[in-house]
Amino acid sequence: MITIDQVMQWVRPEISALSPYRSAREEFVGNGDKMILLDANENPFENGMNRYPDPMQTLLKRRLAEAKKVNENQLFLGNGSDEVLHQLMMIFCVPGRDKVILLPPTFGMYQVCANIQGLEAISVPLDAEYQLDTAAILAAQDENTRMIFIPNPNNPTGNCFKEADILHLITHFNGIVVLDEAYVEFTAKNSNLHRLKDFNNLIVVQTFSKAQGLAGARLGVCFAQEQIIALLNKLKAPYNISSLAQTAVLNRLDEQGLVQQQVHQINQEKDKLRIELSGISYIHKIYPSDANFFLIRVDDSKLRYDQLIEKGIVVRNPSKNHNCENTLRITVGTFDENNALISALRTMDN
Ligand code: PMP
Repeated sequence: MITIDQVMQWVRPEISALSPYRSAREEFVGNGDKMILLDANENPFENGMNRYPDPMQTLLKRRLAEAKKVNENQLFLGNGSDEVLHQLMMIFCVPGRDKVILLPPTFGMYQVCANIQGLEAISVPLDAEYQLDTAAILAAQDENTRMIFIPNPNNPTGNCFKEADILHLITHFNGIVVLDEAYVEFTAKNSNLHRLKDFNNLIVVQTFSKAQGLAGARLGVCFAQEQIIALLNKLKAPYNISSLAQTAVLNRLDEQGLVQQQVHQINQEKDKLRIELSGISYIHKIYPSDANFFLIRVDDSKLRYDQLIEKGIVVRNPSKNHNCENTLRITVGTFDENNALISALRTMDN
């Protein structure tokens, strides 16, 4: 097993040596309510938003740690998962030298992060069933390959990877394995969060943008060993999570019954769409999905995409991705939205 000391040896020297900016709210840690705050150059007139937010999101992390059964110091919060993904590459990869492994068809942001940071992305395509080719992935690693990014469930294909394959990679990959569980609430399959206690090289990322219904608030959650979390904290902008977002997420944590109901409804609607769409002649395949969207293969994805636009419905055309020719990715909407989609697709069947 990879030790935490080995993991820390992969950290870029500049990041290890970095002394972070200390914000006013980090220098004075105490009960601000009882104090006269003249330390942060804020506007003193109260309007509910005139003070900087808690830079360490203490209350929110406490609640999340309870809910997720991890220690508070194993949690980092980012401005969406996007910020988390950027920071992880910054910590572990030296620009111009290091590489990451991506598994197309995959979430497009990993490639963009790698490009921004001057990292080579090695592509190891999924197999014909959109499953992991573990042998090829492990063979693709060299001494400068630091990280692998695995969205599970995968985007744009919607499926989960085989649990045994994921475990095989966490166990044998000589680098950081980032499991991006953005859609995990939609699947009956297990999160891999519990494996944090067994693997120092595992990092799990989740988000409030999907099942939790707070895409507008921007909150990504990263789970890792506390030494890695300390590095993420060192790198972050001082006040990266706004007061509005912290409050919205805290409120949402009190509404988990509603979230579960919505997830259930979305999954039922997904099953309905699968049945209704299977009768349409130009839809050649509906791929299995563990997420709140699904991929279909059609006769001509550009034609069908344009026809849907004309009918006021926007889906995604991921056909440029590896092994996704003539596919469309459809998000499950409300009951009415899905019915509108079904009738639009039917009228195009002639
Ligand atoms: N990971 C995956 C696999 C995604 O599909 C998305 C959104 N499309 C994200 C992360 C981004 O999530 P966030 O809104 O938290 O930045």
